Amino acid sequence: MEQAEVLSRLRLSELAPGVVQSEIRAMTQECDRIGGVNLAQGVCDTEVPEVVAEGAIRAIRNGLNIYTRMDGIERLRRAIAAKVERTLGIVVDPDREILVTSGVTGAFQAGAMALLNPGDEVLLFEPFYGYHASTLRSIRAKAVPVALEAPDWGLDVAAVRTAITPKTRAMVINTPSNPAGKVFTRSELEALAEIAEEFDLFVFTDEIYEHFIYGGAKHVSPATHPGMRERTILMSGFSKTFSVTGWRVGYLIADPKWVPSIGYFHDLTYVCAPAPLQQGCADGVEKLGAEFYEGLAREHEVKRAMIVDALRDAGMRPHVPDGAYYVLASAENLPGATAAEKARALLAKTGVASVAGSAFFRPGKGEDLLRFCFAKKDRDLEEACRRLRGLGSEG
Ligand code: PLP
Repeated sequence: MEQAEVLSRLRLSELAPGVVQSEIRAMTQECDRIGGVNLAQGVCDTEVPEVVAEGAIRAIRNGLNIYTRMDGIERLRRAIAAKVERTLGIVVDPDREILVTSGVTGAFQAGAMALLNPGDEVLLFEPFYGYHASTLRSIRAKAVPVALEAPDWGLDVAAVRTAITPKTRAMVINTPSNPAGKVFTRSELEALAEIAEEFDLFVFTDEIYEHFIYGGAKHVSPATHPGMRERTILMSGFSKTFSVTGWRVGYLIADPKWVPSIGYFHDLTYVCAPAPLQQGCADGVEKLGAEFYEGLAREHEVKRAMIVDALRDAGMRPHVPDGAYYVLASAENLPGATAAEKARALLAKTGVASVAGSAFFRPGKGEDLLRFCFAKKDRDLEEACRRLRGLGSEG
């Protein structure tokens, strides 16, 4: 065989992106380089609850360090079932309907592998979380964006219907959402449930921010709607609630018809979520009650007010989120042709890192928006707010 021919086989797959560095990571690096305040990454640097950390340390010391059962440790599955019943009103069989996963990321990857085929279309509400689109791409399914209506990100039911084709197999509902902080209302979820039933669609729900809810908003789990349980893959986890994004522990709840196949794919990639960290999360779910979750929401509601006020003072017209811990704000007054350029301009002027809004939209959209994460220690958030306000006084 000719040398050139041999070499030509050394190439990336058709799926592999040419540039793998995400814009968020690039901003983080640049921010570190100049010693700025990073509001780009969705990494909460608030404290890990003591019971959670202690539970994991104890588990390591007690030798609970080997592979767990494919669907996770029994104690955690039982604790999740009890919590889901208590907080969402959903009764779940911990032996047949729960899979402990490597975060929501692992849950969605395995769920998509098990339930979708190449070429299947999946509706994503826009602005969407980039991983949802990329995960679908990784299994050769097609993400179909359905625009939510700015500035309040209301659901346009007619647009959902228009987006459906014979190839549509599923929709993803992220509530509360990243990046818009949209909390789908009960009536919006009813409309989506009706559509899901009419067109026989799976519904993947990403409820990772379920406890980050502000003002009068209420988190409603789409699976609670009658007729939705069989078709809903409910995904949530502990990354955000316990500030343990690096632990990689989450879960999904689904009909027993789907769980073994999803578990098969999860096992193939992740084997199991880290054993001692499952134990730590079980301690947290068992021991932390409503006051912990309410405290978390109140604490972040104060942080939301801080960043929203600062962005207003900076003249950046923030969209006030009802949930999660991000704010989208207008970048129209910043120099640059794209949101990525505007984010870099803001970083250079103020030392505050944000994410280009374009990361959350189809190509060509979101270029006038920036996303700011406010799950930060008060000290850092105060400093970021002070720097942002400087932009407003610049005139
Ligand atoms: N889903 C959404 C909407 C997110 O914003 C994030 C993290 O930023 C994740 C999932 C990741 O969750 P996990 O750490 O459980 O994989």
